[in-house]
Amino acid sequence: MKELNVYTGEYTINSEDHETIINEFVGLAKKATRKASAPFKLSADFWKRLIVTLDFNDHRTASRGGYRNGVAWINLALDKYPRKDGYRFKEYSTLATSQSMGSCQGSLRVYLFALCAHELAHAMQYYARSNPQKLADKKVNKAGISRLQLKPPHGDGFKEIYRFLRIELVNKIDGFEWLK
Ligand SMILES: [Zn+2]
Repeated sequence: MKELNVYTGEYTINSEDHETIINEFVGLAKKATRKASAPFKLSADFWKRLIVTLDFNDHRTASRGGYRNGVAWINLALDKYPRKDGYRFKEYSTLATSQSMGSCQGSLRVYLFALCAHELAHAMQYYARSNPQKLADKKVNKAGISRLQLKPPHGDGFKEIYRFLRIELVNKIDGFEWLK
């Protein structure tokens, strides 16, 4: 839903739209990561404790995702103004032109799904990195990701996880387009 501010004449997006889409993403991500093809198996606690924060403050420009004290979290810096020409999701420089994880554009849903996938991949990355026993368990760490690969924020461990989330949840949704 769009709301008109009669004082400024600007339209803002009701944050309920964002919440609905993000909740949908989390539900689908939970399902997808249960698949045999998922690179890393998550515990029920990962999802039970997951904290998702929506930040519409203009001063916040960077979204983040992580895992601390047994709690996975994603903090999303969101733009409150609707885009008439569609939403652009600009990926981290080394990923921008990737065939599977690159920058993309489309509806608010495309944008939020891509953003959530990126930040959730960080949460999963640091969850995996802080659980050596799970890393050693081939039934959990199905992709055989090493602790060292999980260290760089956008390194090979992150890519292994993010690629899966992008292909499963983002790249095939209606209106998805690669950003050139
Ligand atoms: Zn990142």
